[in-house]
This record gives sequence, C-alpha cells and structure tokens, in this order.
Amino acid sequence: MARKYLIETFGCQMNVHDSERFAGLLEQAGYEAAADLSEADLVLLNTCSVRERAAEKLFSRLGEDPIAARVDGSRPVIAVAGCVAQQEGRAILRRAPYVDVIVGTQAARQLPALVEQALASGRAQFDVDRYEDVSFPLGVARRGDPVKAYVTILEGCNDHCAYCVVPSTRGRERMRSKADILAEVQEAVAGGRREIQLLGQIVNDYQAPDDPACDFPALLEAVDAVRGVERIRFASPHPRHASERLIAAIRDLPHVCKHVHLPIQSGSTRVLQLMRRRHTREDYLRLVDALRHAVPAVAISTDLIVGFPGETLEDFECSLSLVAAVRFESMFSFKYSERPNTLAARRMPDDVGGEEKARRLAALHDVQREIQMEGYRAAVGGVFDVLVDSVSRRRAQEVAGRTTGNVVVNLPGRREWLGRTLRVRIVGAGSNSLRGEAAEVGD
Ligand code: SF4
Repeated sequence: MARKYLIETFGCQMNVHDSERFAGLLEQAGYEAAADLSEADLVLLNTCSVRERAAEKLFSRLGEDPIAARVDGSRPVIAVAGCVAQQEGRAILRRAPYVDVIVGTQAARQLPALVEQALASGRAQFDVDRYEDVSFPLGVARRGDPVKAYVTILEGCNDHCAYCVVPSTRGRERMRSKADILAEVQEAVAGGRREIQLLGQIVNDYQAPDDPACDFPALLEAVDAVRGVERIRFASPHPRHASERLIAAIRDLPHVCKHVHLPIQSGSTRVLQLMRRRHTREDYLRLVDALRHAVPAVAISTDLIVGFPGETLEDFECSLSLVAAVRFESMFSFKYSERPNTLAARRMPDDVGGEEKARRLAALHDVQREIQMEGYRAAVGGVFDVLVDSVSRRRAQEVAGRTTGNVVVNLPGRREWLGRTLRVRIVGAGSNSLRGEAAEVGD
C-alpha cells in the first residue's frame, strides 16, 4: 500500500509553489496525497520566516497532536522545509526533538532521499546546503490550482534590505533559464491553466542565463506569445529596478494584467534609506506617475511596514500621506518584526513600542480601507473582464474570479465557467471583493 503524505504550507506564493514541487517529488517516490492528518505517513511543514510570528507558527504546530503523537502512540515522519528550516537547521531539534527531516530552501530535490534515510537509520536527517542549480524537472510539480500556475523565474536576492530575512534563507540570486521557464509555461497551458504567475524575489532583476538579450520585459514578451496564455501576473518587482521598458511591456502586451504589486515599505525617504531600499519617496511617486500615464487603468498594490527602528511620528505621517496620494488598490501591511541575520537586527534597536506599532498599523488600515471602499463603490455599474478561477465553497451556484486589476469578484455561475474570462457587470461592493453578474456568457 502506498504511503501517504500531507503538506502544510505557511507564507508566500514561492512557498505555495515549492509545496507543489514537494508533492510532485513525493508522488514520483511512490507516495500518495493523504486526505487528512490521520492517514498521513509523512507530514511536511513548509515554513515561513518573514516575521517572528510566522516562524513561531512552526513550533506551535509541531507541538500539536496528532503531529507529535497519535492515540496508538505511532506518529508520522515529520519533515520541516522552507525558510525556518534553512534559518534554524539542527537548532529545530532543540525545541522539537521528534523532527525526522530538515530540508533547506535550496535542497528540495533531496527530500525523498532524506525521508528514506531517516526511516532506514531512525536518525534525523538534514540538508540545508546551498545548491546553484535552480532548474526543476518538467511535469513533476503537482499544481493545486486548475486555472492559475506559478512559475518561478529566479530564486534568492542580492539586495539585503535591512529588515529582510530572505537573502539569508533563500540565498543569493540565481536565474532560471529562459528555455526552462517557457517550457514550464507551455506545460502549464497544456494542462489547462490560463493564468501564469511569474515568481521571484525581484522579478524585474531577471536576466536569462541562456539568452543575454532576455531581461524581464523580454521574458514577459516571450511568455505573452505562448499560445493559450490568457493572463500574466508577476510578483514582485522592486521599484528601484523598474524601467520604461517594463512599463511599456505592461501597456503593450495583451496578456499582461494591468496590475502591479509595487512594495513601498515606507513613505519616508529617511526610513527608506535606513531600510536600504535604495530609492526615495519621490522616485516611487515618479514611477507611479509614469505607470499611470502609460496605463491609466493600472491597479497598484503594495507592502508597507510600520514601526521600523527609528521611525518617528513624522516619518509615519509620510507613509500615511503617500498612501493617500497613490490610492493603492490593496495593501499588505505589517508591524516591524526583528528577524535574525538582518542588518537591522545587528545594528538598529527595535525602539518603536508594540502598542505604538499597533496604533500606527490601525491608523494605516483605516486610511487604506476608506480608499479601497471608495474604489470598490466606484466600480459598481461598470463591466469588467473576470477570469473565473474558483467555485464558492459556501454558496452553491456561485463562482469567483479576478479582474485584470486583481480585484476579487463573486457572481452567480456554474463550475463549467472555471478558466473562462467573462464580461461581468458589477452590482455591489463589499470590503474586500465585488459582487457581479455575468453580462455575456456565450456558449
Ligand atoms: S528586495 Fe529586499 S525585501 Fe525583497 S526579498 Fe530582497 S532583501 Fe527582501
């Protein structure tokens, strides 16, 4: 009887895609997906370390039955992967001595062998080594979404922003070949996916190792030309690497969504310098102007941190005023959390108190919520192209999808509409999504 695996994923899209790869590698090794924890012979926790709370999630999860022990005393093989595995390595065993496998962010392909070694030897197995090779065999990843496909174009980051743990957990930047990326896009489309999400820490830093002329805008052009691709999204570009050619690609390429996730992190140039973001508030606003001039309907979303070491009230006011000026479509916002192996942890005391961080985050949410609601209300009555990508779990005869601007739209519909782009009239606005009805369905 085949052994069964269960994967729990924490964190970003890159981790979600890594888990799709882990699933494929385990199935190649003869495993099958478990329906739930009770029947899993192997439990893989794919972890995130971007904030302290995220990292602690691992240890609280590890402490919970039936991961730690089943009623009959047996327990599954426990493997820890992802950024906490890379960051902590063997130290994980001090807090969770029953972990059997620890596999780093660059050693994914070693997972099946490590599990076999742990079973054979009864001893914990590790691999947190750095591997240059970022290629991944075609047809192995078990994609979890019927409509959208993640495609990694590069791994790691050389930028070392002062607060960020990624360069130490994912290593230095390594580019995938253009040939591998296009082959994976073709494979995803052949498998019925209509939307391609290109992933990398700084996607607009991409430079094809197998084609010197292929930078990120050129890669977008090549993916856009793949038959069957309906939508292309990418995460995340860095404002300091944004070029006129990238803006032109977003404007001119028919399948590139008119949405850019452009992390700003702070609205204060002084704090941006402390963060080592290497651009100013003014640079960012100029970029937003250039984007909106070229693509008037472009939707812009962002990431923003409050309470970075040394952030004064005046600095925070700069963040609020920038948010009010740009009017982001949506935002991911966080309280600063000191991370190991970062410049800030080494040199900048975490001097903004917890309560003050919470107050600033709440104030930011209030400003953003109002802006977002005004945008949603203004969409009512309009007609948008919506790619249907899911069926409602709560309401029968209801589906959901996204506009090219990445706004979620819920509408009455049928499962057969999955993967289809429909003209949808917006009839209502919620706090995080819109309500619509199909204006045209066709056959
Ligand atoms: S660009 Fe900065 S924030 Fe983004 S992954 Fe690299 S170091 Fe982290």
